[in-house]
Amino acid sequence: AVGTPKFKRIMLKVSGEALAGSRGFGLDPSVLESIAAEVQQAHSRGIQVAITIGGGNYWRGQQAWEGIERATADYVGMLATVMNAMCMQAALEKLGVPTRVQTAIEMKEVAEPYIRRRAIRHLEAGRVVVFGAGTGNPYFTTDTAAALRAAEMNAEVFLKATKVDGVYTCDPVKHPDTARRYDRLSYRRVAQEGLQVMDETAITLCKENSIPVIVFNALAPGNILRAAMGEDVGTVVGE
Ligand code: UDP
Repeated sequence: AVGTPKFKRIMLKVSGEALAGSRGFGLDPSVLESIAAEVQQAHSRGIQVAITIGGGNYWRGQQAWEGIERATADYVGMLATVMNAMCMQAALEKLGVPTRVQTAIEMKEVAEPYIRRRAIRHLEAGRVVVFGAGTGNPYFTTDTAAALRAAEMNAEVFLKATKVDGVYTCDPVKHPDTARRYDRLSYRRVAQEGLQVMDETAITLCKENSIPVIVFNALAPGNILRAAMGEDVGTVVGE
């Protein structure tokens, strides 16, 4: 990716599932390092990068056992995201990128609490900010947390780094002959057709704040940087 970046400030959502790589559980350090390397390249081009990290590689509140209350299970899930956030910080700092973690659940021995104006200040000062603990509330997702923080940070775009290269008409694994990838989609069409982009709360927040969402494959080398630079890498969901 060469040229001038299209965006000044981006929100990158990294799912826990992506961090697990082919292991399916926990963290694959090589995935973490390659994501960090691309963030470093975007950062070195002057792009302000905020990252929201998921936790599905360790825990999903909805999938915990029956005997545990959903809210409790969700809090455990939020704690899982903090582990990922701290590892992302370590990977970025190893590459010389100044990074702060802010958590929506206070844990001040390991990270700053979320303070909106301080987070913006970090971005302006050239620090990457990694948001952990989701929204701090059960019954939400880290996609929603990323959309919320994107709006709060005035990010110009929501980059949804996933394991697929965009949004399809139907499941490309089940229907390889008929599945077609969308280049562009409207928020309205995503809602009307129930297309799998992210949960409705998250997409609604992006729509209401006119933040385009780019769904792309984070595991293909160079894609995070290309997406950050504003190149076409997947499906763009917008007005
Ligand atoms: N979670 C939550 N509130 C939030 C964000 C996350 O309760 O604001 C919990 C929820 O249980 C979720 C888990 O944390 O299953 C891990 O987050 P998520 O599933 O969004 O991670 P990802 O799919 O991105 O890895």
